[in-house]
Amino acid sequence: MSLATETAVIAAKFDYTDEDVNRGVKEFLRQLGEGLEKDGTSLSQIPTYVTGVPNGTEKGLYMAVDLGGTNFRVCSILLNGDTTFNLTYSKVAIPKELMVAKTAEELFAFLAKQIELFLQTHHEDHFEKHVKRRMTESSPEGFKDEHHFRLGFTFSFPVQQLGINKGTLIRWTKGFDIPDAIGKDVCALLQTEIDKLGLPVKVAALVNDTVGTLMARSYSSPGKTGAVLGAIFGTGTNGAYVEKLANLKKPLSGEYDKSTGEMVINTEWGSFDNQLSVLPNTPWDIALDRESVNPGIQMYEKRVSGMFLGEILRLALLDLVKNDKVSFFRDENSGSNDWKSTTTIASESSIYKQWGLDTSIMSVAAADNTPELSTLRQELDSMLHVYSPAIDDAQAFKTISGAIGRRSARLSAVAIAAIVLQTGGLSTATEDEPIDIGVDGSLVEHYPYFRDMIYEALRVIDGVGEEGAKRIRIGIAKDGSGVGAALIALVAAGMEKSKSN
Ligand code: ADP
Ligand code: MG
Repeated sequence: MSLATETAVIAAKFDYTDEDVNRGVKEFLRQLGEGLEKDGTSLSQIPTYVTGVPNGTEKGLYMAVDLGGTNFRVCSILLNGDTTFNLTYSKVAIPKELMVAKTAEELFAFLAKQIELFLQTHHEDHFEKHVKRRMTESSPEGFKDEHHFRLGFTFSFPVQQLGINKGTLIRWTKGFDIPDAIGKDVCALLQTEIDKLGLPVKVAALVNDTVGTLMARSYSSPGKTGAVLGAIFGTGTNGAYVEKLANLKKPLSGEYDKSTGEMVINTEWGSFDNQLSVLPNTPWDIALDRESVNPGIQMYEKRVSGMFLGEILRLALLDLVKNDKVSFFRDENSGSNDWKSTTTIASESSIYKQWGLDTSIMSVAAADNTPELSTLRQELDSMLHVYSPAIDDAQAFKTISGAIGRRSARLSAVAIAAIVLQTGGLSTATEDEPIDIGVDGSLVEHYPYFRDMIYEALRVIDGVGEEGAKRIRIGIAKDGSGVGAALIALVAAGMEKSKSN
């Protein structure tokens, strides 16, 4: 069998047909409804106690931190009150060993340290004044609370929210595994480490990244109406949307403002269809899940998001490498290679290591449409240590990678369409005042044509169709997690004031 034929067989296993998409939407709607009625279902449908979205007139200086799955971001945000903002920002990769640290303290001490560094670098003035005050005042209670930055903590893992700045970790996802932290209040864990360093920072709000994205998009999006959905396609995937209170059947314990008749719901859709009743399941999906830290969980996320796509691709490619009937990433005869040297995979190539293939190379593959695929081939050489790959090798890589990326985008359309249908807004939306959706995450931001592939799928969905798809606007919520967290910290600061009055 030729490499091209074998490649086509593998790629075809990632086909996710129009019919599959429609079946997916129906099942998504069913699981969505189930989660509104009771706890313990596959879509957790977590009430956030956020009962409205901003309109762009909000003002003030806030801090925000974002523990994603790959990076930790620290920023300060000045909301100008006219849908614009100024943002100062720093980012560090989360050290791999901290993702599986023995104690929660180790991870949170690292986070607090990054906040200290940020304050020293970008808010030296505020920081120095605070340290001076601390030295001249006799008791720690002597600091004025109003000198503290209010910080919104974006924590992108499933949390049982118990209040605006209180929530306990339900489970880790995205490769994190620190059992010590489960069941603990993540705001308190962070505040404790901040206090150990004596920083002028108060953790005011706990924010899921999806909710932050929804808020940020509502603050800055054009038009009169706010966004209905905030969705993440980064390391992981998840969405939060505005639901009618009347549809929320399960009991709510905390206080909230009932006047809007709505509440933002964090779906935790990464766990959609853990039972695999409609999700596709190739041999490589099965292998990935088996070797993951949480088999059987986050099954939708494992087919959609950045952390996993590269690994699915790696596993599929390894089958090709091991297949004696085709020659992939190897040639006995360098004459067949236009680079005139022998193709080999270095033994230390990360293609042999779990998680060794970063999803970002899939964006390179999708973007390279030159006849020689020279950019991709260089990347294979430098990132994967596949030396002198031939055009045919790169083409096989590109075809399988593209099939996995396309399946991811079409699966993403399932969640988006189901929520659009759930909110029932299509009938009143127009092309000028469309249903607005904010998205964030490296995958949707950088993978070429990801949004176009989502739209392509939306157009074939019953109840959406060509006309409906035109009335859905999917826009990047730029700096979503930072701005969104600031907006929720603002709401929280307002609540503190009204309590003390
Ligand atoms: P986080 O989830 O920590 O907020 P990101 O939104 O940046 O962070 O997502 C990081 C994930 O996106 C990683 O899994 C990474 O492999 C993937 N990624 C990074 N760059 C790209 C890219 N150019 N194309 C596709 N995926 C990418
Ligand atoms: Mg993120």
